[in-house]
Amino acid sequence: VVRIRTNAKFDDFYEIYGEPLGEGKFGKVFQCRERSTGLELAAKFIKIRKDADKATVEREVSIMTQMRHPRIAQIYDAFYAGTNDVILLMEIVRGGELFNRVAEDSYILTEKAVAMIVCQICEAIEYIHSQHIIHLDIKASHPSLSPLPVSLRGISCGGRGDNPENIMCVSETGNRIKLIDFGLAQYYDGSKDLYYMAGTPEFAAPEVIKYEPLDFRTDMWSVGVITYILLSGYSPFLGDNVAETYVNVERGEWEFTEEFDVVSDIAKDFIKNLLSYDKNNRMYPRECLKHPWIADTRASAAIDTLLAQPTIDDGATQLSNKQLKRYIVRRRFRKLAFAVMCYVDFRKILIDLRRRNSVKGEEFFAAAKVPDAPPSEEMGSLLAKKTKE
Ligand code: ATP
Repeated sequence: VVRIRTNAKFDDFYEIYGEPLGEGKFGKVFQCRERSTGLELAAKFIKIRKDADKATVEREVSIMTQMRHPRIAQIYDAFYAGTNDVILLMEIVRGGELFNRVAEDSYILTEKAVAMIVCQICEAIEYIHSQHIIHLDIKASHPSLSPLPVSLRGISCGGRGDNPENIMCVSETGNRIKLIDFGLAQYYDGSKDLYYMAGTPEFAAPEVIKYEPLDFRTDMWSVGVITYILLSGYSPFLGDNVAETYVNVERGEWEFTEEFDVVSDIAKDFIKNLLSYDKNNRMYPRECLKHPWIADTRASAAIDTLLAQPTIDDGATQLSNKQLKRYIVRRRFRKLAFAVMCYVDFRKILIDLRRRNSVKGEEFFAAAKVPDAPPSEEMGSLLAKKTKE
């Protein structure tokens, strides 16, 4: 069991080298080497800003420690550094972020390749759920977030760096993936309702956005969104700004774009069974793995072949990744996600308060000291319109 070491110095055991691997909401991730063994690892430096963050990080470590699965990056060691940092040492995953890799010219994007990626995500989630954990941040992209942590009445919306993904490719050639991050994961045994508003609106299920009870199938909505994007290059709920995305998810309306004309009906059926507004009608991971789109692909070849660099088989249609490339570029320029997520939280509380007639909206916002990343005018009017509806 990995515990966060208190009386040991990171530098005595590990050395950082090379370029940083990436940046998440709480801090940077570096390549590093264990001095005694030469073992290469990823070192995630997490800045703790307040006590609530400390509890979150400790929960992340405790959950990651529990995870032992080939589709999940394994935690190796952990340190407290000074009073404000935790350093997590974990298995390094070198093949880059999933969407970037799939959008590369050299990657042969076919339904079979996508089915095998989605299959691995479902295997990982099936395992996570078997440990009574809901991941709540299954995503393959992230709009820019401003680094402002805010917590109000127990609802917190953390904000860290830019563009982190939680699904990484193991190598630059094969088709294996691993999940790397459990920052928002929650223990869940079904004994009481779990409410949690956090994550990335583009991938979040309607019950997250609406602050309604979550369950294991909340993760499966996100799998539906990822599958949809991988097969078409379109993100089904992504709006021009985060407020619009939020509204789109809350409405839960989506359709297959023309890119799906070349996609099989069975793949579309898979997506339909995940992007169901009512979570009771969504598949669990084990049902996904039994769904013919996944099961028949798996039955068609040895797993090693299926997880190798994708190739074109007889009769396979190569899907265009042109749209996927555009999507990746577009999301890099997206801003304001964090501010709007907070605004959504505030709006929720505001509506509750108004319902009880206890306070006027303006007074509430003044009292709540909304952080200095105000919602855009566009977003404000959109939400005002929605509130009236
Ligand atoms: P968030 O909670 O916003 O997803 P985070 O602060 O928890 O972010 P991670 O998602 O864990 O941070 O990591 C940020 C980025 O660092 C990843 O998108 C990835 O590019 C890189 N990274 C993280 N862990 C690893 C790893 N084990 N191997 C290689 N790269 C990694």
